[in-house]
Amino acid sequence: MPTPPPPNCGAVDIMKGEKVRIRRDIASMSAYTPTTSLEVFAERLGLEADNLIKLDANENPYGPSPRVVEALAKLPNMQVYPDPESGRLRDELADYTGLPAEQILCGAGADELIELILQLFIEPGDAIINTPPTFAMYSFNAPLYHAQAVDVYRRPNFSLDVEAIQEAVAQHKAKLVFLCSPNNPSGGLIASEDIKSLLELPATIVVDEAYIEFAEGRSLANWVGEYPNLIVLRTLSKWAGLAGLRIGYGLFPRALMPHLWKIKQPYNVNVAADLAARVSLGDVDFLLERVRQLVKQRQRMEVAFAELPYLSPYASQANFVLNRISGMSAEYFRDQLARAGIIVRYYKKPRLEDCIRISAGTPAQIDRLLEVLRALANNEL
Ligand SMILES: *Cc1c(COP(=O)(O)O)cnc(C)c1O
Repeated sequence: MPTPPPPNCGAVDIMKGEKVRIRRDIASMSAYTPTTSLEVFAERLGLEADNLIKLDANENPYGPSPRVVEALAKLPNMQVYPDPESGRLRDELADYTGLPAEQILCGAGADELIELILQLFIEPGDAIINTPPTFAMYSFNAPLYHAQAVDVYRRPNFSLDVEAIQEAVAQHKAKLVFLCSPNNPSGGLIASEDIKSLLELPATIVVDEAYIEFAEGRSLANWVGEYPNLIVLRTLSKWAGLAGLRIGYGLFPRALMPHLWKIKQPYNVNVAADLAARVSLGDVDFLLERVRQLVKQRQRMEVAFAELPYLSPYASQANFVLNRISGMSAEYFRDQLARAGIIVRYYKKPRLEDCIRISAGTPAQIDRLLEVLRALANNEL
């Protein structure tokens, strides 16, 4: 019988007292709860999946281009490993972004690229700057790659506190600054002047543009050629409706590329995702027309929410609207909507306790949403 390991050392029971030792920090870490699928929500609420309106994860309610569905039905060569370089896709992304293919790397979603960047930069104990409230994956992944995440909170209106970031980078010698523009969940773009000042820091600035296709502002893609310390992350999950296939990409300074190629999993982008992305890029006009429809619904939501007594929307440049709730708890608000079959996002997090994020949907979905919200205002729910 092996001597049992001392307590709090990552020991995990596998079977009847048999222990294996996993990493202590992971053993004591709390679990991340990603969004739940439509089917699970339906079961939980006792409703039909078809009757649910899922506005909690900024997914594209229109789905992918019909050409993608057609192409995937005839997907060839599933028995062969995918092109490790995603060569054809990167050529098409070069046309789409205006940046040479040599500076583009594809991943299983932008999420994978966040991990790759941490792997590339972080030695145990190095600091990264996170600017909450923001997308959770930067701070979620940091400790897994032995990085120390330093939180520099946004101002009460969710704008970036540039001076505080500058000080934190200096104090902690941070190597990476993760920024999200438009920011998830607050929806605002980061001002170009702010990014410019941050690019003067001795750190690499990662700008996550997952929602840039929905914004009026310009992408920073064409800055990547000019700054050796700027990385831009993009994805086809939202605007192209491919979240379920996991395909994203990063725009990187030239000097980083050889090293990224060394550490990337060779077959990270599967054949279905690769094909779906290429077909989507061949159908950009159609997909961007749907993006315009979603932006219209977002604008409609912003106006209608502001007229409700209990909602205060924040101006958004993405496909969702963050709202402050008054007169009831955000949790209660979420539960009331769920009972009516509408799923929205509630955060049990600092600065967001009284906030709800609602994704833009089809006109019919937003009709129903506004109907339910008005009924809630009149105590008729
Ligand atoms: C949805 C989202 C992503 C995830 O992109 P994937 O390509 O699906 O991994 C990245 N960043 C932000 C801010 C997001 O909201």
